[in-house]
Amino acid sequence: MTRHILHIDLDAFFVSVEQVLVPELAGKPVIVGGRPDRRGVVASASYEARAYGVRAAMPLTQAYRLCPQAIFLQGDFKKYRDFSARFMNILADFSPSLEPGGLDEAYLDVTGCDIFGTPLQIAKKIKERVRKELGLIASVGIAPSKVVAKVASDLGKPDGLIEVPIGGEKSFLAPLPVARLPGVGGKTEQTLVVMGIKTIGQLADLPQELLKGRFGTFGAMLHEHANGIDESRVEVYGEVKSISRETTLERDTLDSQFLEGMLRHLSEKVGADLRYEGKRARSVILKLRYSDFETITRRFTPKESLASDEAIFVEAVRLLKQALAKKRKPVRLIGVGVSNLVGEARQLTMFDQASRRLELLDKTIDRIRRKYGFAAIQTGRTFALKDIFSRGGED
Ligand SMILES: [Mg+2]
Repeated sequence: MTRHILHIDLDAFFVSVEQVLVPELAGKPVIVGGRPDRRGVVASASYEARAYGVRAAMPLTQAYRLCPQAIFLQGDFKKYRDFSARFMNILADFSPSLEPGGLDEAYLDVTGCDIFGTPLQIAKKIKERVRKELGLIASVGIAPSKVVAKVASDLGKPDGLIEVPIGGEKSFLAPLPVARLPGVGGKTEQTLVVMGIKTIGQLADLPQELLKGRFGTFGAMLHEHANGIDESRVEVYGEVKSISRETTLERDTLDSQFLEGMLRHLSEKVGADLRYEGKRARSVILKLRYSDFETITRRFTPKESLASDEAIFVEAVRLLKQALAKKRKPVRLIGVGVSNLVGEARQLTMFDQASRRLELLDKTIDRIRRKYGFAAIQTGRTFALKDIFSRGGED
């Protein structure tokens, strides 16, 4: 059966929320992420700041060089979470088949939701309600598959609305640069360019075996996506495969006591997420980034699966000690994760619609935090930690 999938993505979400709450910020270059003289990256930039070349995930110091007149904000996760919940509630009014991909974006399968109109009419209604009720701008892509809908919503930004007709997926994608395809980051893009592949159409025309040989299963998937093929369903409950927390330190350090304190804190966060998911972990992962940006991850899989903060902490510290014994370089970023999650997911079928949405939202928040490393939020947290841990020593 032909599916009708919407991908709805809010434009410059964090910054737009700030501009809604403080109207004086509207029309100005605004950057959410933290103070420009601090470590961390841009979490969100207004289109006025983007005009100067500022982009998400760019170091704040670089953003400051490009646009010194910008207003730099710390960001407030609670505000974004509140707006996100209201956004998801609007979407859920049109279809129960809703999969958040982040606080500010979601897939919505509106197949068979004719009572609300055609997919295009539903998209227009969603944009209208988001504008009226939240004061925000949503870009929407409509397509028969998730990947094409996502490319379409992104392509139309800002204030986009693009419908890809059924059967027109391949020709829609063909002229676009490969970087438009989800999952094609800097490194993959470089490799493809070296292979002479610049457009999605060129990628689609390559033999699938060649891409499989080069990139493994990821390559096979890329080939399907480039051809507009994506059978994946809108998953109301995204399965969590790993959980991790990391933080960029205020200053590079070799102080093992401080690093252990940080691990304790991160392990507690990871443990809380793990138990929330109703899972146990088989493996514990330590991540370190040194002052020269070399990044390592170390993994340990104990005999028994674990779920307590203490157990995660003990393994993480063991990995830290091993790493520090091998390399005496100051640490810039430290992270703890768990993977190979096992155990029964909790029964969700009994939950009513409202609490389902809340659960989904919480999971989404965790995913977002992992994705961005959340400089904006972490700066405050790092300050607090520094106060706690610097009492025992120096750094
Ligand atoms: Mg967005």
